Amino acid sequence: MALRPGRTRTERPQPVYPAIELRSVRRSYGRGEAAVHALRGVDLALPRGSFTAVMGPSGSGKSTFLQCAAGLDRPSSGEVLLGGVEITGLDENRLTELRRSRIGFVFQSFNLLPSLTVRQNVLLPQRLAGVSQDRRRADELLARVGLGEHGGRRPGQLSGGQQQRVAIARALITEPEVVFADEPTGALDTRTAQEVLGLLRQAVDSMGATVVMVTHDPVAASFADRALFLADGAIVDELWSPQPEAVAGRMLALTAAPGRYAGAAA
Ligand code: ADP
Ligand code: MG
Repeated sequence: MALRPGRTRTERPQPVYPAIELRSVRRSYGRGEAAVHALRGVDLALPRGSFTAVMGPSGSGKSTFLQCAAGLDRPSSGEVLLGGVEITGLDENRLTELRRSRIGFVFQSFNLLPSLTVRQNVLLPQRLAGVSQDRRRADELLARVGLGEHGGRRPGQLSGGQQQRVAIARALITEPEVVFADEPTGALDTRTAQEVLGLLRQAVDSMGATVVMVTHDPVAASFADRALFLADGAIVDELWSPQPEAVAGRMLALTAAPGRYAGAAA
């Protein structure tokens, strides 16, 4: 095979794996008649550099989906692959290691450590992963989220929106394969929410991040490239370039007549 100038055999292009892939993922709680089937066979592959919103009525399986995809919970069956690596079979230590280095998290409640400075919070994933702490990168990320002057402060001195921006910088510090965000704007007012969503969008567009966000807000979903709709543990619908009105319409249909979608998994 001809090699391009400057390219050696060891630099042969690798196959491009999806950032995250779920294959026939099922998750049940309990057994027998009392079993709850929270996920009933989810198949999904999300490319790098994509922004996906996951929506669905309460109890449809959104949190279970996120936990299984992020390696925080183990599927009852099926596989989860992170950057082409199957994580479902890893032991607890390897899984923890992988979560720390290759997955970023943004929570509704920010989850910053109050005793650490903002900069130390951003560096925490590197510290936990046991890699050298890159202060310059932390400060660059803080500047990107508009908090360049706030590295030495404590989270308690910041507003909710600012704290969530710190959480986004923290989620990006290890250049993770995927950032999972669980209702990241649930505790914020509308305007602050838009700023935070704009930053997630920017992380995808200008830094190549991959974001998966659970939300029940159609406006929040409209910042994503694609909205997935869960009902009764299955993906039953999707919208590309989701507009708030269209998302609200799908949600209404799911809530009003969930049975219509039964068995219609994409
Ligand atoms: P959502 O986040 O969309 O509200 P969840 O993923 O939290 O949905 O829950 C999906 C289903 O699984 C629900 O019926 C819920 O009651 C059930 N479930 C979730 N976690 C547990 C658990 N630890 N034990 C038993 N049932 C659970
Ligand atoms: Mg939930």
